[in-house]
Amino acid sequence: MTMRQTRACQALSGRLVDYIKGELSLSGCRSLESHLRDCAICAGFERDLRREIEACRAHGGPTMPATTRRRAQQRVKEIIAGALRRH
Ligand SMILES: [Zn+2]
Repeated sequence: MTMRQTRACQALSGRLVDYIKGELSLSGCRSLESHLRDCAICAGFERDLRREIEACRAHGGPTMPATTRRRAQQRVKEIIAGALRRH
C-alpha cells in the first residue's frame, strides 16, 4: 500500500455510503469502482458496509440512520490507520 493509495482511501471513505445507496454520480461511481479494483482494503470495507446497509434495510428502515453513516466513516478511518501502522 502506498501513501497515494491511502490518500485516495481517505477521499473515498465519505463517498462509499452514497455509492452503495446508489446516490453517487456516474463519474463518481467510475472513479470509486476503479479504486475498489486496485485496493483490497477499500474492497473489503465496501463488502462489510454493504452488508451493514442491507441489514438496516431488512429491518425496515427507509433510510440509513445517521449513526450507521458515522460508524461507517469512523470504521474507514480505523482501517486506514491500521494499514499505516503496518508500514
Ligand atoms: Zn482504498
